[in-house]
Formats: sequence, C-alpha cells, structure tokens
Amino acid sequence: MSRFLNGKFASLEAYTPGEQPQDMQYVKLNTNESPYPPAPQVLKTLAEQDIADLRLYSDPDCAVLKRALAETYGVEKENIFVSNGSDDILNFAFMAFGENGAAYPDISYGFYPVFARLHNIESTVVPLKEDFSIDPTDYHGLNKLIVIANPNAPTGMALTVSQVESIVTSNQDSVVLIDEAYVDFGGTSCVPLTKKYDNLLVVMTYSKSRSMAGARLGFAIGSSRLIQDLDLLKYSTNPYNVNRLTLTLGKATLDAADYYREKCAAIIETRAYTTRELEKLGFAVLPSTANFIFAKKDGVDGGYIYEQLKKRGVLIRHFTKQRIKDYNRITIGTKEQMDVFLEKLKEII
Ligand SMILES: *Cc1c(COP(=O)(O)O)cnc(C)c1O
Repeated sequence: MSRFLNGKFASLEAYTPGEQPQDMQYVKLNTNESPYPPAPQVLKTLAEQDIADLRLYSDPDCAVLKRALAETYGVEKENIFVSNGSDDILNFAFMAFGENGAAYPDISYGFYPVFARLHNIESTVVPLKEDFSIDPTDYHGLNKLIVIANPNAPTGMALTVSQVESIVTSNQDSVVLIDEAYVDFGGTSCVPLTKKYDNLLVVMTYSKSRSMAGARLGFAIGSSRLIQDLDLLKYSTNPYNVNRLTLTLGKATLDAADYYREKCAAIIETRAYTTRELEKLGFAVLPSTANFIFAKKDGVDGGYIYEQLKKRGVLIRHFTKQRIKDYNRITIGTKEQMDVFLEKLKEII
C-alpha cells in the first residue's frame, strides 16, 4: 500500500477470484465456466468483424443487444441494463441501492460482502438453514437491499419463484436483487415478476451458460426507473464499458439459443451422472440446479481433496470458511472431464 491510498480503502479486503493458472493445462472445474465453446454462428460472426472498426467507440446504449435481450425475455428495451460482466452490475447495484444497508446469506457469492465494504454499506448476514437452504421468511420486511443468488452459490440450491415473490412483496421500500448467474441450468427465472414489482432487479451473465466468461458481458432486468439509476452510475463511471466485439457477439449468442439450450441440457445430464458417481463413493452432494455441485465426504478433509486433485491436474474450488470447509465446489464439465475427475478422486480416497 502506498502512503497515498485514500484511508477509507486501507482495510478493504478484495475478492479472491478462483485460480486461472497459466502454468499448465488443468482439467479446470474451479470457476464454473462452460466446458463448451461459443456457438459456431458466434465464431463465424467474430471472423466477419472488421477489426478496423475498433478505432470507434462502442455504442454506450448497447441498443442492438438490448433490443435482442428484450425480445428474448419478453420485456422492453428500457427494462434492460447492460454492463461489463455481472460483477460490474452488482457493484453499481450496491452503490445505487444500499443506502439503508444490505442483507445476504452467510454462504453465498463472495463478492457481496466485498461490494458492501467498498461502498461502506452496513450488512446483515443471514445464516442459511442447517440444510444450506435459504429461509425466505428470514428476509421478510427487512427493507434493506436484499441480494440473493438463485440458484445460490456455492450450494447450487434454489428458491422457488413464489418464495422470491414473498421476499419482494414484503420489502416494498427496498430493492431485491436476484442474481441469476446459474438459472439456465434447470432453475426458473424471476424475470416475469419484474413486470409486477418495481423493486425487483434480476441480474444475469454471459459467463456461465453462454460460454463467454472471457468476453465480460452481463445484464440486468427490472423496472425502467431502476435501470435509469444503474445507467446514471454507469454513465458517471465508464459509459463505453462493453467493447464492440463483445456487444456484437452477445447479440449473435442470442440468435443461437438452440445451441446453448442443448449445451445446458448436456451439463444437466452430466451433473446427474457426476452426482450419482460421487454418491457411490460415499459423498454427500447437495441438490443442485446450477452448473456445479457442492459435495463432501465424511472423514475426508475438503482441503486435502482439493490439494491432491490439483497435484493430479484437476482443479476444483475449496473454501476455507468454517461452515463449508469440509465441502468442495466442483464445476460440471464434459462427461470426459468428469470421468478424469472421478478417476483421480478414487485414487485419493
Ligand atoms: C460467476 C458469478 C457472477 C459473475 O459473473 P460475471 O458476469 O463473470 O462478472 C455473478 N454472480 C454469481 C453468483 C456468480 O457465480
């Protein structure tokens, strides 16, 4: 730290991203990326781009992409916010709507507490129930910014739409943010509720189900007033924060919806297969509607499994937090990748 850093950031603890090792090829099951490449049409669109156009700024309104997203989700263009990955949107949302504090689960996406601290927002951390599910009534009437990943990470467990609705209706004076990063892997989206409630913001990303983590693209859906608030902050920070290529590929991705549906179906099938195989090995696996599973085996240290797999070229995610330190989060890859994972795992246990 230099002696010039603003004192208010001195005690900031940054988010720790999952490893992105550059040293060797791993079977990479640690950051919930898709094992599948973008659709052939997306690659074709990329090849057709005129790189000379990069001299021009991107459209700060992201109009073409917004129209396509609006059509996909059955909303209007003014209900859509587009930004540089959904982390970017979460940052703006904490900044915009966190004035009266924020509430989120104790076990959830590790970025929420980082954004809360960054913006000096008082946090209510709500413990998950014993079985790692969220009790919606814990969030009733808090009237703070409520942030819930649905399905939750790293558990993979989801609330129903009516459970989310009960949270939204009981917090009419605050924003309820539902982070649907993993909704395409068997969950049900709360987007239809955004037409009924002006305090619901649904956040989504291209990073998981749309195979574009490296392109950085996220979007949010909500009432036009909420979207205007997010735009106010985006236009006060970095209006061109989504690059031209990403905008174009984001649109091409929506045109290839069938391809992505097929890949999500494959991941769901591989998730069921991996779960069955792990259970045969004596693992307890939480019921997941995401592209990862959260699993532990009694009597075997979670950190040990992580280390031993890494030595054998397989990367998974281990968290040291007391309540979940026995567990590992395993991204669902291709069936072939999961077979390598299972084979190495058998060597270890
Ligand atoms: C991966 C993830 C994100 C971040 O997505 P980006 O669009 O890549 O920034 C947000 N929320 C949750 C719960 C995630 O798991």
